[in-house]
Parts: sequence; C-alpha cells; structure tokens
Amino acid sequence: MLIVQKYGGTSLAGAGRVHAAARRVTGLYQQGAQVVVVVSAQGDTTDELITKAEFVNLRGSAREMDMCLAVGEQLSAALMAMAIGALGYPAISLTGWQAGITTDGTHGNARITGLGNDRIQKELEKGNIVVVTGFQGINPKGDITTLGRGGSDTTAVALAAFLQADLCQIYTDVDGVYDRDPRLYPGATRFGRISYEKMLKLIEGGAQVLHDRSVEFARDYHIPVEVLSSFTGAPGTIVGP
Ligand code: ASP
Ligand code: MG
Repeated sequence: MLIVQKYGGTSLAGAGRVHAAARRVTGLYQQGAQVVVVVSAQGDTTDELITKAEFVNLRGSAREMDMCLAVGEQLSAALMAMAIGALGYPAISLTGWQAGITTDGTHGNARITGLGNDRIQKELEKGNIVVVTGFQGINPKGDITTLGRGGSDTTAVALAAFLQADLCQIYTDVDGVYDRDPRLYPGATRFGRISYEKMLKLIEGGAQVLHDRSVEFARDYHIPVEVLSSFTGAPGTIVGP
C-alpha cells in the first residue's frame, strides 16, 4: 500500500505543527504503508519570499523568481524529514529535481510532464519515508520551475499518479470540500464525496481548496483524492469518479 500525503502551509506553520504532521505520517508508516509526503512552504513563507524579491527588483526575471520561491518548500521538506527522524523513523527529503519531477519550460506556472528518475521508488524500497518538496520541478534546460500558486497539490497528485499510489491525501486547514467557502459562509455544506468534474466546476467558481491541475491529474489517472483537516484528522471529502 502506497499513500501520498500532502501538507499545506498552515498545517506546517511552526515546529509544533510540523511535529503533529510527522506523527500522522509515522502512524501510517507504522501500519505498514509506504508513505510519500509532499510539503508546501510553511505559513506565509511564499508571500514573504515574493516580498523579499520585489524589494530587490520589482521585475526580477521569472527564472530567478522560481529560484527564490522554491526555497520555501525545500525548508519544509528538510524540517519534516528531521521531525520524522526525531520520532525515530527513517526519512529522506528530496527537492523537485532530486525526485525527478520534470516540467515544461514555463517559469512561474510550469506543468508537470513526468517523473524522470526512480529515486523515490529506490528510497521507498530502502524503507524510507520520502519527503518531497511541493510546487517545483525541473525544466528541459535543467532549471528550477514552480507550478503556480497552490501548486503543491498538483505535485502530490502527480506523484500519486506516476507512483501508482492507492490514495492521495491532501491535509489542509479545512475538513473537506464545501459548496461555499466555509470560512465566509457558516451555513456551507460539506461533501462526503464529489466527482472530479464537479470539483473542477467549484474551482472555476473560485474555490481554492485544491489546485485545478491537481484535479485534472486525478481525473486523468483515476486517483482518489481525500481532502481532510490536519488538525482533526477526521474523514474528509473524497474527490473521485
Ligand atoms: N507555497 C506555494 C504557494 O503558497 C505552493 C503551495 O502552497 O501549494 O502558493
Ligand atoms: Mg502555500
């Protein structure tokens, strides 16, 4: 059984939350699953990196912007691997290029095109929990690209597709997919299940709970995606056929 778990920025904001996520990951590993963990940058890190870059050059090149923004996920991945290690479990962190995540050449909004090596499988076979940076890959020139805001979801689902995972779990700060934004509308209702097509419609209408390309990947490769809260761990919403 192979499960990909993705943790969003809010779920990793601060050492306590990184440890809480690590406990979830190791709980699953302890049950005998192979686990690939995809991480976003902590909290508002990506926004802060953008601000830092803009202070230096309001029109920095897209290539350098990608170099800058990819840093946030690299920090998260290292911290997550260290937190797992602190719990006594074997883990290794990989950047997008180490993991072989290939993309097209579009800096700032690249599309994942494939998995160019078998490093993740090799590390899983060694018994490691593999922590991969979300939101980034490597283009045909060998340069770092990023996938567009919120793109870590797409990293997670793409890896689930390429590795033929049994499930992709997206841990976030809401406990599932709602018909309206539950943070704005207290009366919003939560779906237990939702189809890929309906999910894509919600995203078109402005829902931000999942990156649109992640749902396209899930649909095209028939990957069930569960959206759930990292704070409660209660069953969330399954996005599926
Ligand atoms: N850290 C990136 C962002 O804030 C990617 C992600 O969170 O999925 O957009
Ligand atoms: Mg983020």
